Formats: sequence, structure tokens, C-alpha cells
Amino acid sequence: MSTTNDPIYRSDRACAGRELALFFPSPGRMVAVRKAQEVCASCPVLAQCAAWAAPLVERKDLVECVVGGVQVPAWSARIEKFRETAQELAEVALLGHLPDAEIKAA
Ligand code: SF4
Repeated sequence: MSTTNDPIYRSDRACAGRELALFFPSPGRMVAVRKAQEVCASCPVLAQCAAWAAPLVERKDLVECVVGGVQVPAWSARIEKFRETAQELAEVALLGHLPDAEIKAA
């Protein structure tokens, strides 16, 4: 799903020109997840991206990827996990950066 707020239309996004596969790491590949999160941590549109992604994740319209610096679970995950992830994205949108723990882990 794309909207006019979709960060894909932002040329200044940190993921522009990067391999899309970087943001769709295979399940359990935490090193790959951290690499994607590192890119997001320095993204000038992180807050906008996280705000855009939160409702999509809550509705399970966006699954199994890294977006807004947050790992989104696979489609088969419980709905509660999607709600938690959407809440994490809402917090990133509010803060304008990744939580300290995420930055240290990246
Ligand atoms: S926060 Fe991450 S996924 Fe979103 S636009 Fe920036 S680099 Fe791309």
C-alpha cells in the first residue's frame, strides 16, 4: 500500500538507492536486521517513516521487514505483536530517533 506520505517518495531517505533486500532480512538474521536499523538510525525522514508505517503495521498491511528502524514481525505472528510493533513505531515518530537501546544494539 502506498500513500502520499509514503517515504518511498522522499529522495533524501537513507534507504534510497540501497538494495531493497537489506530491509527484508530473512527470519532470525539479527545481524541483517541491525544493518538495516543502522541505516534507519541516520535517516533524515525517520520520524515521518515511522508515523507512516505504524498504522500499516497495526493492520498487518506491512509485515516481515525493517521500517522506521523497527523490525516488523512475519505475517504469522500474533496480532498483539503487531500492536506492540506499531506502538514502537509511534514512539520513534514521537521521539524523532530510535530509542537508546536500539542505537546501542545497532
Ligand atoms: S527510516 Fe529506514 S525505511 Fe524509513 S525511509 Fe528512512 S531508511 Fe528508509
